[in-house]
Amino acid sequence: MAIDKTKVREAYANLSDAEIEELATKEVTSLDEEAIHILIDEIESRNLNPTLIQAIQTQLTGFTMDDVERMKEKVLALPCPECGERGLELTGRLIREVKSFIVVTTYKRITFIACEECGEKRWRQALALSSLLGWWGIPWGLFRTPFTIGALLLDRRKLKEQSEQILNGFVINNMGDLQANLGHESQLLDIVYNQNR
Ligand SMILES: [Zn+2]
Repeated sequence: MAIDKTKVREAYANLSDAEIEELATKEVTSLDEEAIHILIDEIESRNLNPTLIQAIQTQLTGFTMDDVERMKEKVLALPCPECGERGLELTGRLIREVKSFIVVTTYKRITFIACEECGEKRWRQALALSSLLGWWGIPWGLFRTPFTIGALLLDRRKLKEQSEQILNGFVINNMGDLQANLGHESQLLDIVYNQNR
């Protein structure tokens, strides 16, 4: 049976933050898919803790937050997937890149997990590439480029917070694959390396 989206939207809008939190952490599996999307919208528009959205995802996939934490520790213990160096702290960065060629403008947004030095290098590369190659597209290059450069600079101010979200998101999205390759370091590294592209 299809739900009445407008009614659900209205009902959720009338809930308190605590009730939304309760719904997101305990009752997601009893909700219709449409209702879950509305719930996620509500969490985003109220600017509630983004881990609530991750909690919803883990319930839907059947993994607990503990499973996710344990898997994250395994990922963080890997050598850097970019330079191969061991014992460095791995962090997640958001990389945005815009390139234009006359009428074609492409915008790429990737999550990049690597050691601090490799993450910084990749971020600088995105900034340089976008600054040089973003503008040359009419009209999108002219709009997209200042937006991308501004966003890249803003990202840099919330590295810690963004890293946490990227690492959690990576583990949740790849849980099956990661679990299937546990104990095989080179395969695990491949999974991280491929998502960095
Ligand atoms: Zn590295």
